[in-house]
Amino acid sequence: MSEDMGIQTKQDEDFGKWYLEVVRRGDFIDQRSPVKGFDVILPWGYAVWESIQQIFDRLIKSNGVKNAYFPLVIPEHLLKKEEEHFKGFRAEAFVITEAGGEKLEEKLYVRPTSETIMYYMYALWIRSYKDLPLLINQWNNVARFDTKITKPFIRGREFLWQEGHTAHATKEDAENWVKTVIKMYKHVYDMLALKPLILIRPKSDTFAGADFTVVFDTLTKDGKVVQGPDCHMLGQHFSKPFNIQYMDRDEKKRYVWQTSWGMSTRQIGILIMHHGDDKGAVLPPEVAPYQVVIIPILFTGKEEVVLKKCKEVESHLEQHGLRVYMDDRDHSAGFKFNEWELRGVPLRLEIGPKDIENNEVTAVSRLGDKKRIKITELGEVKKNLEGMQKSLAVHSEKFLLDNIRDVHNMNQLKDISKKGGFLRGNWCGSGECEEMIKTDSGGYEIRGTLYEKEEKPFAPCLYCGKPAKHVVYVAKAY
Ligand SMILES: [Zn+2]
Repeated sequence: MSEDMGIQTKQDEDFGKWYLEVVRRGDFIDQRSPVKGFDVILPWGYAVWESIQQIFDRLIKSNGVKNAYFPLVIPEHLLKKEEEHFKGFRAEAFVITEAGGEKLEEKLYVRPTSETIMYYMYALWIRSYKDLPLLINQWNNVARFDTKITKPFIRGREFLWQEGHTAHATKEDAENWVKTVIKMYKHVYDMLALKPLILIRPKSDTFAGADFTVVFDTLTKDGKVVQGPDCHMLGQHFSKPFNIQYMDRDEKKRYVWQTSWGMSTRQIGILIMHHGDDKGAVLPPEVAPYQVVIIPILFTGKEEVVLKKCKEVESHLEQHGLRVYMDDRDHSAGFKFNEWELRGVPLRLEIGPKDIENNEVTAVSRLGDKKRIKITELGEVKKNLEGMQKSLAVHSEKFLLDNIRDVHNMNQLKDISKKGGFLRGNWCGSGECEEMIKTDSGGYEIRGTLYEKEEKPFAPCLYCGKPAKHVVYVAKAY
């Protein structure tokens, strides 16, 4: 590696190229694997995923969810049981037709998602109302042959995720569980300092086999949106074909109501594309693998005293529960500054002979603030990180609010869409208008209606001009 580690491309020159540089040079992902769309997640990127996992795993467990693991492959007849589901995933599935040198009698599908293999088991397990609710999650990988251009973390052919699958006695119980899931994802988004729009997808884009789908759509700095976690109200679409029934208190057999919900490694890409800047990634302290990096500023003859002080500060901060790394590798300080900025570490502490003389450290936040902190007042470091977490969240919310613009007709939509972001317009509800809005605007699609708030139409349908039924949010998506 050369000593020059900075990013070559600026965000507003070429956002796509900037992103690729950050994920590669920031040690998040290596795309040079021998199979296209199957990327290697590097230790730094994986550590971010582990942070997200730990936050969410604690949360689901505190809500009664248990983790389990289900098979990687699904026999074709199972995947076919729910017709819409099969139609939705058939085109992008990887299929195994041969094993042990012999042609298989029945094709095996590598899971694109696990509803069918899990619900086969649910039908065996659920007998009585006493077995409900059944709340199970699995952390696994899935593979989908996405034909669009791949993009590290954002669009790959294999990704890591969690998929939660629940079964409930009543529709109301299932709907309440959807609310719980949204609350849990909101918490994760708080930890990521991301402010999303939480939307109910239009029917056309609802998960194959669901009644309705709730999604977290997040803006990226180039004005597009990326879908983060989603939650599907499956109703009884699967319980009927899979015959998942329970004996109720009144001795009658009833079909269960179900939900499924997932969040993937795409979240890392969203983080980078939302918070990143020309120097690289910016990681919110809550999920940064290292919250603080200590960099010794070495001068000949003073090495020992500086390194000793650095060690003291490191162990002091660790005792306060912070994730700290002391970088005493044999590189120049400038190289290290660049590298940790590129990786997105929230705070760097520089300690040199001068700092030691003054009994202080120099703290430089990833957002650029520079501050001297007394070694006797290292509690300030924690406050500094809390301040940064908050400031990222405030910034994210402002960015979202500043980038929602009302449009009354297609001309206005086409004009204002040049600014990117969300466009708020009105829609009659027809699939034809939905399609035409996308075609006519060059890719701006209806992402959905607000999840938590019903909004009254303020103009006619964007496309046909007839009375509108819904206020919808339109955007260009990755
Ligand atoms: Zn219309």
